Amino acid sequence: MHALPLPSQLADPARRALLDVPSEEMLDWLQARGQAPLRFRQMRRWLLVGRAVAFEQMSDLPRHLRDELSAAFRTLGSDIARHLVSCDGTHKLLLRLHDGQVLECVLLQEANRRTVCISTQVGCGMGCVFCASGLGGVVRNLTVGEILEQLIHARNLLPAAERLTHIVVMGMGEPLANLDALLEALAVAVSPRGLGIGARHITISTVGLPAKIRCLADLGKQYHLAVSLHAPNDELRTRIVPTNDKTGLTEILAAADYFYATTGRQVTYEYVLLRDLNDQPAHAAELAKLLRGRQAHVNLIPFNDVEGLPYRRLTQQALTDFVAILRGGGISVKVRKRKGADIDAACGQLRRAALAEPASTAGVE
Ligand code: SAH
Repeated sequence: MHALPLPSQLADPARRALLDVPSEEMLDWLQARGQAPLRFRQMRRWLLVGRAVAFEQMSDLPRHLRDELSAAFRTLGSDIARHLVSCDGTHKLLLRLHDGQVLECVLLQEANRRTVCISTQVGCGMGCVFCASGLGGVVRNLTVGEILEQLIHARNLLPAAERLTHIVVMGMGEPLANLDALLEALAVAVSPRGLGIGARHITISTVGLPAKIRCLADLGKQYHLAVSLHAPNDELRTRIVPTNDKTGLTEILAAADYFYATTGRQVTYEYVLLRDLNDQPAHAAELAKLLRGRQAHVNLIPFNDVEGLPYRRLTQQALTDFVAILRGGGISVKVRKRKGADIDAACGQLRRAALAEPASTAGVE
């Protein structure tokens, strides 16, 4: 891990960020100043494609317009409060929002893939017992601009010739609890005028909100769906994922089956392995039985330690056995590789560490 200089100052909270100003309002603002609607597209292009971080850099806008824009708006509303780089090339950004809230996003680099893991909420209201993001509950939803800015900040870290290739919506928060804003942001992410990321390279991970999974299926988008299962039966799942109490596995699996039937996209089931809790051979056998006959893929995630929580990573032997039982049951399985372990890259951990420190030390690595 090494330190990097902090690129910008805390943004002025009085001015709104460009990506959070509705297009009609921006067009009206331009019109009132005698500016053509084309200016709006130019500004967005500078941010989304041209990597500009200040109006000053938008060289094809008239100078007086750039000055007026700077006085009225901000290019980006979030600020990099901390930037960590792991030995394996993983970057983690802690972004500070206009109201002082902080969130995390991660850039993962592997061969030709440049993947950003983004957050959709500050905190999380789902309360999964092993997850750092849920420990303080949900503070608020992120705006469309705040979701997009994570992609922009991460992309701006790449050399000019490189671009983002994948998005995983696996950071803080429950994406389907902020679905409208997420979809609006993803529409810009996939647009050739936006970030040009293929819709098939975007994965939305959910705790399993059945009605919202069906909504997503009906939209006819090509986004990939991942459902966080974590247990093969309701009794155990409700202990690990308390919201399961209201939904239950039957309804979640039915919604996931509907997603597959409607979109033709195979669903991934995520399963965080917690030592002695859900990692036993009997759990693997029950999981294989539950998913048998479904077009399913299982992504096993060895637990990443969270300070203050009693859960532990499973043993290597237990992992090998778990995988073998699932494969023996005809289930397609992958074990998630650990990335950025030296920089607290598991969801919500850096934010929690930053919240626990005196403000004066934040941003110094
Ligand atoms: N709310 C969404 C996105 C959460 S993050 C969801 O529940 O799917 C993406 C995945 O990381 C989820 O499967 C989540 O359960 C898992 N996760 C959270 N904390 C973890 C930890 N400490 N170790 C391993 N995986 C974790």
